[in-house]
Amino acid sequence: MNDQNNRNNDRRPEGRQGRTILVILLAALLLTVVLNSIFSSVANAYQTEIDYSDFIEMLENDELDSVQFQSDRIMILTKEEAAKELTARQTYYTGLIDNLPLTGLTEQLEAHGVEYSAHIEETMSPILSFMLTWVLPIAAMYLLFSLLMNSMSKRMGGGGLGGIGKSHAKVYMEKETGVTFEDVAGQDEAKESLVEIIDFLHNPKKYTDIGAKLPKGALLVGSPGTGKTLIAKAVAGEAKVPFFSISGSDFVEMFVGVGASRVRDLFADAQKVAPCIIFIDEIDAIGRTRDSKFGGNDEREQTLNQLLAEIDGFDSGKGVVILAATNRPEILDKALLRAGRFDRRIVVDRPNLAGRYQTLRVHTKNIKLAEDVDLNKIAQATAGAVGADLANLVNEAALRAVRHGRKTVNQEDLLTSFEVVIAGTEKKGTVLTDTEKRIVAYHEVGHALVAAMQKHTQPVSKITIVPHTSGALGYTMQMPEEEKFLSSKEELLTELQTLLGGRAAEQTVFGVQTTGAANDIERATDLARKMITQYGMSDKFGLMALSTVSNPYLDGSTMMNCADDTAAQADAEIKQLLETCYEQAKAVLIENRALLDEIALYLLQKETITGDELMAFVNHDKPQLPEGEEAAEEKTEQTEE
Ligand code: ADP
Ligand code: ZN
Repeated sequence: MNDQNNRNNDRRPEGRQGRTILVILLAALLLTVVLNSIFSSVANAYQTEIDYSDFIEMLENDELDSVQFQSDRIMILTKEEAAKELTARQTYYTGLIDNLPLTGLTEQLEAHGVEYSAHIEETMSPILSFMLTWVLPIAAMYLLFSLLMNSMSKRMGGGGLGGIGKSHAKVYMEKETGVTFEDVAGQDEAKESLVEIIDFLHNPKKYTDIGAKLPKGALLVGSPGTGKTLIAKAVAGEAKVPFFSISGSDFVEMFVGVGASRVRDLFADAQKVAPCIIFIDEIDAIGRTRDSKFGGNDEREQTLNQLLAEIDGFDSGKGVVILAATNRPEILDKALLRAGRFDRRIVVDRPNLAGRYQTLRVHTKNIKLAEDVDLNKIAQATAGAVGADLANLVNEAALRAVRHGRKTVNQEDLLTSFEVVIAGTEKKGTVLTDTEKRIVAYHEVGHALVAAMQKHTQPVSKITIVPHTSGALGYTMQMPEEEKFLSSKEELLTELQTLLGGRAAEQTVFGVQTTGAANDIERATDLARKMITQYGMSDKFGLMALSTVSNPYLDGSTMMNCADDTAAQADAEIKQLLETCYEQAKAVLIENRALLDEIALYLLQKETITGDELMAFVNHDKPQLPEGEEAAEEKTEQTEE
């Protein structure tokens, strides 16, 4: 039944195509008429028809130079025109009246001294004239037409007239990608989650025999250039299976119905060569939430529906795995993320220091480096850069070395290209200066330390100063030990202090207030307001609810529900509560200043630290820096001497 539907979809572009053909034919016809009239008017511009009597009059007035008899007319050249030296002379002509020459015209011409001649018609062979009048125009027409159709179908990705929707112009198939996990630097977590899929592609039978169902697809989530495509290719390379790739944005510009049939063809082809990998880049282009608010996009929806149908339809036991990439998972249609579809999410993060170092190593593998090159330093300077930036940086450096006529790439090449590739572009926002990095590090450790020093707190699981796609320059992640639905007043107070710990650290250490705390402050204020106006947690108002949730099912927005001056008092209470918590957070940090410095320094070096590492510091059991990084530290100091 599904198939039936698809067939119907296919017909739609053909209907459109019929109309297009008609339009083209009409246009060609119009063009011919216009061109024809233009040509003939050009040809006629220098020829004027006159009456026979005028001709005789001119002849009798001795105005004529010469005449030429043609099959149907007499061409006339006046003396005046003949005297002109121009190539294009004005000529006149008049109709040739049958047998007139015999009635004494020639004698008359002779009497007036006018030269006369006859024009021999170039008679064409009937075949030639047939060719010229029929075959040639038709052939030209056909040529023009097929050229047009060709370029049109290219735009649609079709393969000529009959092949609409049956083409693979933009589906790329690689029998062997030749990429392995070794080519992917860092991203260990992502690789780990894909190992199982590789094993499955190697030997689907092992899984199907036992009755296990493997996920049909996984979603690779991460900023552009973090290596999602590379990882997908590496999965195919590791499993030694073919790799089909297509980009979601290609579908958007297509004619209605083409996208859907393209998806169908893609899956049909993939199943023929299974096991294999289908990679859909930028899946958000087709997989965006289907909303009818703006009328929706018919083509995108059809393509998405077809994709969903194909994913559900194929037998996962065959060994087809779909990997899709996006940097905006939040806008994807929920249907895509449902169980049995892209239910696995693999985060491909921006690399931290170690990751960037490894990426630089991978990309300088085949590059001749000078003695003075210190990749660790480059890695340190490029916080926030993604793999693609680093690959680009290395290449730019190599080009610079060649321009300078050197045989090896030196540190200066790398540093200069860093400025060209990253610092000088819009990527600047994600690469922090050293001072900014220090502030962000203290800010994040401020959150974490305040949290760690309290009793009623959720453990910190990760602190990072690697900028995030969302624009956050760093973040501290707290993980509740178990899912909680109730929070006590103490817990909420701790949460407030933790939220304000970031700003408290900035203020304590640097004496500055930065914009980085904006989100914290917003969240803290929101929480404080709820505590006082909704949760009955203020001594002043006690159990009185001052606001009501106006729409609990939608966004949960609230409405103040009290007298104006009560509302003003509530605001004062909220301010008071926030100030108290802020002071408490500050006190914690001042008291533990040494610890704060120690952890912040460690975070600056590692960029990402785990909750365990944090707790080790808090319990005075300092974790060791990995050896390579300590060595790099020493080296840096040496070069600075
Ligand atoms: P995405 O698909 O996430 O936008 P790509 O996979 O297209 O990013 O990455 C572009 C290029 O950047 C890759 O071809 C590779 O050269 C480089 N690159 C990105 N991430 C890495 C990485 N982790 N290791 C090595 N090279 C990388
Ligand atoms: Zn913060």
